Amino acid sequence: MTKQRPALPAPAVPESTAAPESTSARKNTAARENTSARENTAVPADPGGSVHASAVSLVGGHPVLDFANTVAWRLDPARTADRVQGPEAWARWAATAGPAGQEHAETLLRAAAADPARAEAATAALVDLRTALLPVLDALVDDAQPPAAQWEALRGHLARARQDSALPPTFPLRWQPDPDRLDGLRHELALRTEELLGGDNLDRVRRCEGAGCGWFFLDRSRNATRRWCSAGDCGNRDRARRHYARTRREASPAAQAQA
Ligand SMILES: [Zn+2]
Repeated sequence: MTKQRPALPAPAVPESTAAPESTSARKNTAARENTSARENTAVPADPGGSVHASAVSLVGGHPVLDFANTVAWRLDPARTADRVQGPEAWARWAATAGPAGQEHAETLLRAAAADPARAEAATAALVDLRTALLPVLDALVDDAQPPAAQWEALRGHLARARQDSALPPTFPLRWQPDPDRLDGLRHELALRTEELLGGDNLDRVRRCEGAGCGWFFLDRSRNATRRWCSAGDCGNRDRARRHYARTRREASPAAQAQA
């Protein structure tokens, strides 16, 4: 795969996600309080405020990557956590991190409450898209061949997104999934996936180097040197780990010699 270094505009968001996290957490709480159906609730942010514990993480810097990042600690099976479960939680996620935006959240919630069976099927299809997407993103950052089955599944999602979307006779031409349906959210994410994987920012897609993290992000740093989903989270943990290793070595040269 040929890698290029496209020029990018100034970062829209700082690498530190403290502010967006707290904002999204507040919106999330508001959305939760406004709804009557409560059978599926997202995991709330933990008291420590770790980005990995939040129901909505915006560290990806792109809706498709934030969608992929709804699985926390993906590469550590002992800690892996699906942060968004059930139609209601996905509707709230869509309001803060999804491409449709806040104004469609209430409609999504109402649609989910009115037809639970359809909402459950739509949720399963969303998760299916994410399952196909994750190994493809891994292959991208590893400069490897995507696994055939997941690639075919992703191709199916991209094709269905067009099939089920409107195409108004206006310019510029744009496929328009129904923003008030969870199916539409899936289609929008599929279309944005195609845009991301075929666009100028392809070479800026990174995977956090934090042990077990596995989150993806769009590296908008000037020199394309960003390594962590969050400097204050995985970055901090890595600094602490290296500091601990260094002090242990310094305290016990014999142990280092034996190692
Ligand atoms: Zn990380």
